[in-house]
Amino acid sequence: MFKALLLTKNPQGATQAEIASLDEARLPEGEVLVDVAYSTVNYKDALAITGRIPVVRKFPMVPGIDLAGTVAHSSDARFRPGDAVLLNGWGVGETHWGGLAQKARVKADWLVPMPQGMDARQSMAIGTAGYTAMLCVMALQAHGVLPGDGPVLVTGANGGVGSIAVALLARLGFEVHASTGRLAEAEHLKQLGASELIDRATLGAPGKPLQKERWAAAIDSVGSHTLANVCASVKYGGTVAACGLAQGMDFPSSVAPFILRGVTLAGVDSVQAPMARRLAAWTRLASELPAEVLETNTETIALDAVTALAPRLLAGQVRGRVRVDLAA
Ligand code: NDP
Repeated sequence: MFKALLLTKNPQGATQAEIASLDEARLPEGEVLVDVAYSTVNYKDALAITGRIPVVRKFPMVPGIDLAGTVAHSSDARFRPGDAVLLNGWGVGETHWGGLAQKARVKADWLVPMPQGMDARQSMAIGTAGYTAMLCVMALQAHGVLPGDGPVLVTGANGGVGSIAVALLARLGFEVHASTGRLAEAEHLKQLGASELIDRATLGAPGKPLQKERWAAAIDSVGSHTLANVCASVKYGGTVAACGLAQGMDFPSSVAPFILRGVTLAGVDSVQAPMARRLAAWTRLASELPAEVLETNTETIALDAVTALAPRLLAGQVRGRVRVDLAA
């Protein structure tokens, strides 16, 4: 038997979350059985647990788009009992039982061997949010953005993606401007590496199609008017990596930044990203993010505290990353 967070639908169609003790035989099919040591709570997990957006495609479901732990059994030659592994996305926690449980059975194709120099605890201080932040950094670099080009803006800076993006960019030598609704967290953002703070209210309302050129590039996890204003304010030839929708899924923009300033809008997806890109991102995360940055940016909770945390995360009240200790 193992402990899991289990989501079901009540007769009225509302999502219900409870801690359940489950038999291993109930786990879905997959070549590799993992003893999960740590998972995380991401924005998408909070949507799944609260049922606010129907990200869960079938019930009952164990949420959790991230997991890290040790292989207990494998019928795939690439993995052996005792191997340290991690997993992000691939529909885990949405269509296939996920990481908010002490055990998970998954496809071998989905697993990333734990990078050299990193352990399960550290990897889940990063999780999907941090791995996506690295994919965004890689997208900016693939488009030739260099520290000498000028400041780079990060929106949703106190969130999971934003906070890790600030830390990564600062360590690469970029001047980082952080947009946030929580200016009271200025000291934390400065410690992560932000040199200037911007009140997110100045970016969150409808704006002109072209505005003063301020940033060489940007990483946006917010979408909606914020993304539109960011595109309108990026310098000639700049790049905006867009990965999120914390303000909204809409994009009320015009083509002006793209056709008059040659701005590139680079979309970033972590869920179906090919394995080679994942391995590159995780290898870089292991060497570019100091452990002390991760610890100051991470809150660790037990499985039975996850349900209460989910609405707080969606309300933008959680700072940085949330790691879940499955042994607690
Ligand atoms: P968090 O909840 O940790 O962070 C989101 C942050 O956005 C908040 O902390 C807040 O930052 C800001 N925010 C919240 N509400 C609003 C609002 N109404 N207007 C403006 N800003 C707001 O989430 P994550 O960092 O984990 O994820 C961020 C987004 O990225 C989500 O939409 C998520 O779904 C998406 N995502 C996409 C991935 C992909 O593969 N494309 C992968 C991972 C995440 P502050 O307080 O600093 O203003």
